[in-house]
Amino acid sequence: MSGQKIGIVGSGLIGRAWAMLFAAAGYRVELYDLVASQVDAALVEIRSELHRLAAKGTLRGQRSAEEQSALISGCGQLEQLVAGAMHIQECVPEQLALKRTLYGQLDVLLEPHTVVASSTSTFMPSLYTAELKQRAQMLVAHPLNPPYYIPLVELVPAPWTDQPVVERTRQLMLTLGQRPVVLKREVQGFATNRIQYAILNEVWRLVGGGVLSVADADRVLSEGLGLRYALMGALETAHLNAPDGIADYVARFGGEIAAVSASYGPTPDMRGEWETLTQIARQCDELVPLTALPQRRAAREEFLTRLSTLKRQL
Ligand code: NAD
Repeated sequence: MSGQKIGIVGSGLIGRAWAMLFAAAGYRVELYDLVASQVDAALVEIRSELHRLAAKGTLRGQRSAEEQSALISGCGQLEQLVAGAMHIQECVPEQLALKRTLYGQLDVLLEPHTVVASSTSTFMPSLYTAELKQRAQMLVAHPLNPPYYIPLVELVPAPWTDQPVVERTRQLMLTLGQRPVVLKREVQGFATNRIQYAILNEVWRLVGGGVLSVADADRVLSEGLGLRYALMGALETAHLNAPDGIADYVARFGGEIAAVSASYGPTPDMRGEWETLTQIARQCDELVPLTALPQRRAAREEFLTRLSTLKRQL
């Protein structure tokens, strides 16, 4: 598939990241944006980022930074972007009306072999593809930020997405070195946010209920569970945690799991819990002052780079 054309709609944070991932694998990438200056800015930033990664020794793929940069170009028209593309990765802002309008435009331009994947973090594909003629060629391919270091991509089909389209997108993601997971049907929040929000809700309850400080609640993940989860998931962890595997684990701990789970209480609506929010915001600010957020984000990126290198060696 390398050498084929990929179209990226929206050249903001995620569009740029996808462009780099596709170019690293040898695809020809065209970037389109409603705001033409965004494309120019993206091309400049991508080139300098590729050179920065090469200097650090963390550039992906076999080609040099300059060769990868040469694979990425700008495109001034949506029609031109779609023509001859094997895959369109949509990366426009998270606004349903905006996505609906764009998909309506794409629907009349799409060639029969072209797949359109949305980077959306929240919208199930049926919300904006239901009325479209070419809806069988559309699905969600949701990355995690920063996609250059986090390989997970959630593939979410609408009820009418063709199965071969899902499989072809899965294969495409594998050629990038990403690690796709396929949801068999669409579900609100996909898989990542459902799991992430379950954790966030319980951490919220523990801090709000006065059981843990923010720093300690976060340490439970960063110094404990997260270390395991960087290597294996919750189910494999459970499978390993009883002498005879998961069934044995449930026989031994199922009663306790049910009892603890029954004690969680209602799901919080964080917007209405001012006292807890004020308390959590104050402690988060002590942990990382708002002015230090950019440095902390950079540290996280550096950490993820090292972790992904380590994981590739395992
Ligand atoms: P962004 O605001 O950085 O970039 C969006 C770009 O789309 C802008 O350059 C804008 O000019 C352009 N745009 C707006 N309307 C357009 C249109 N009709 N046609 C072409 N271009 C248009 O947004 P982002 O953070 O890159 O997010 C893009 C998508 O990726 C969203 O759906 C978001 O939910 C998803 N996503 C974001 C993250 C993240 O951490 N930012 C992570 C995973 C997924």
